[in-house]
Amino acid sequence: MNKKLYVISGSSGVGKGTVLKGFLKRNPDFMLSISCTTRKPRPGEQDGINYFFLAENEFKECIEKDKFLEWAEFAGNFYGTKKKYINECLEQGKDIILEIDTQGALQVKKRMPEAVLIFICPPSYETLETRLRGRHTEDEDTIKKRLLEAKIELERAKSFDYKIVNDNLEKAILELETVINKERNNA
Ligand code: ADP
Ligand code: 5GP
Repeated sequence: MNKKLYVISGSSGVGKGTVLKGFLKRNPDFMLSISCTTRKPRPGEQDGINYFFLAENEFKECIEKDKFLEWAEFAGNFYGTKKKYINECLEQGKDIILEIDTQGALQVKKRMPEAVLIFICPPSYETLETRLRGRHTEDEDTIKKRLLEAKIELERAKSFDYKIVNDNLEKAILELETVINKERNNA
């Protein structure tokens, strides 16, 4: 069986984290990559579990030392995936999932053309806004920045391999399973 890298992107608040949580519960043999970020932790988020939380100078040092497979600035913060972490997982023969923004996804595809890019879409822009606001994790200024990014992300998603609409959660998880199983068996 072929070991692969799956990249999941989608506008902030679309439900990427929720869909992935459901997927990973049923498919525990997949590794979810832990990214680095300069964003401040949300209540309940833990360093080394949700993200590796870095100061901006630490993040920039990693850029200079070419430690990232990909990195991007998103809505005022930096996010990146460490090369070392991904290589270790692939060497251990694990399928790996990256949950990153569309700028990062396109960088990964350039470096690793075998990566499978999956974009999670909202049923409508209004639903996206309702979900993002309903999460109560961002202030108004951040919500506005993220909603603006959502329009740009939708444009970049045109070059993705698959699109999944997250309307009914169970249906979205099932669709993700179908896509990944198909790719997994395509050696
Ligand atoms: P993302 O990781 O894409 O930023 P989250 O997974 O945090 O988004 O989801 C944003 C909000 O939308 C959360 O409050 C979550 O419970 C809710 N949500 C996710 N998927 C659905 C769905 N299919 N139907 C209704 N609400 C959803
Ligand atoms: P959040 O702040 O809501 O956790 O994430 C904001 C955005 O950053 C989301 O679109 C998320 O997918 C993206 N993101 C998380 N980690 C990475 C990463 O390592 N690289 C890139 N390019 N984007 C990331």
